[in-house]
Amino acid sequence: MQNMVILGATGSIGASTLSVISQNPDTYRAFGLVAHSNVDKMLPLCEAHRPQIVHMVDEAAAATLRAALDPTLGIEVTSGEQALLELVTRDDVDSVMAAIVGAAGLVPTLAAVHAGKRILLANKEALVMSGQLFMDAAKASGAQILPVDSEHNAIFQCLPESVQQNLGFCDLNGNGIRHILLTGSGGPFLNTPIEQLKLMTPAQACKHPNWSMGPKISVDSASMMNKGLEYIEARWLFNANKEQLKVVIHPQSVIHSMVQYRDGSVLAQLGNPDMRTPIAHCMAYPQRIESGVEPLDFFTVGQLSFCEPDFSRYPCLELAIEACRQGQEATTVLNAANEMAVAAFLAGNIGFTDIAKVNAQCLQNLTCNSLTSLEDILALDAQTRQVAGEILSRMN
Ligand code: NDP
Repeated sequence: MQNMVILGATGSIGASTLSVISQNPDTYRAFGLVAHSNVDKMLPLCEAHRPQIVHMVDEAAAATLRAALDPTLGIEVTSGEQALLELVTRDDVDSVMAAIVGAAGLVPTLAAVHAGKRILLANKEALVMSGQLFMDAAKASGAQILPVDSEHNAIFQCLPESVQQNLGFCDLNGNGIRHILLTGSGGPFLNTPIEQLKLMTPAQACKHPNWSMGPKISVDSASMMNKGLEYIEARWLFNANKEQLKVVIHPQSVIHSMVQYRDGSVLAQLGNPDMRTPIAHCMAYPQRIESGVEPLDFFTVGQLSFCEPDFSRYPCLELAIEACRQGQEATTVLNAANEMAVAAFLAGNIGFTDIAKVNAQCLQNLTCNSLTSLEDILALDAQTRQVAGEILSRMN
């Protein structure tokens, strides 16, 4: 029996993870569930999955949950950063699903990395912020990093085992790999006239054509900032340079990404767009388990198409590729700016195309600090949020 802690249990990835656990109850146990404050979602999860520990970041939510839970279930409810760090580093925890959205996921995920846990990494923002530090910590502790993001999971599946076992430090060229081809659907605005993008509402941006996801990643998919964050994530996971990483628009989201080899072979991973597949893959790697996902029906799919991304439609993608070239400081700034801008857009305070403007202005403000510790990263994140807040208040 493997004990899992799910960071972000009340979210979209949390729900998919719990669904895969339910398919395989003799092998996996939801030992710890973690969320921010959503008691209404957490309560039924506790009743259904009977975790040993539930952690609510928000103290008032923890108190409400404690009062609402049936005491005969024997579930311990905790709050506070120390209790969270203790949970993810416990000896009896085998793996940690890192699925808190945004920068908030970094500290507990990195703690689990330091403790040498098997990390199922969905929280791409953690890697975007801490890249080298994160991969160095995994190497030092022996933590196995398994990419949950469907694109990185697909790439992982298409790589030779020697590369899979050496994430972060692998030699793509030495393994005959010419390109990593990151596919993306182009989101809900792929065919929207560019001059109308500024009028797009949060509801329209969150209506992804193929995937059902939380609000922040849905908006990031509409702007293709999500692909930009994934580009940076791929840079760290696969030790890839600019020439080795390419973005390809593939509107059907059936191919989840590809690896192009020196001899002309291209390996792709295909499947229905359902996160339970990569989650199940990471949970069981190198075995295979049931995920509950329907097999892909090629006759229904019919057609697969591809095109190049247009940076005038997706300026956030271009900003992310450029930030990746500049280095760790720029990607940390971009991540914080984007979280602030997306929150403002979702709150109805700025327009869709303003997201890229906030991101670009924050990057212009970047003064070169060198990031050598978690504290440096968190300080730059906080500083950028302040700058972004000032830019946003001038826009309102
Ligand atoms: P959701 O918005 O659906 O869920 C977010 C989760 O994070 C909730 O459990 C929420 O708790 C929790 N949370 C939010 N803020 C905090 C905080 N400050 N401290 C602790 N917990 C917090 O997000 P998704 O599931 O869509 O995405 C999660 C991560 O996975 C993101 O990094 C995303 O990029 C990545 N990902 C998601 C995919 C998807 O298909 N959804 C695909 C690939 C990657 P509460 O409910 O209490 O607020």
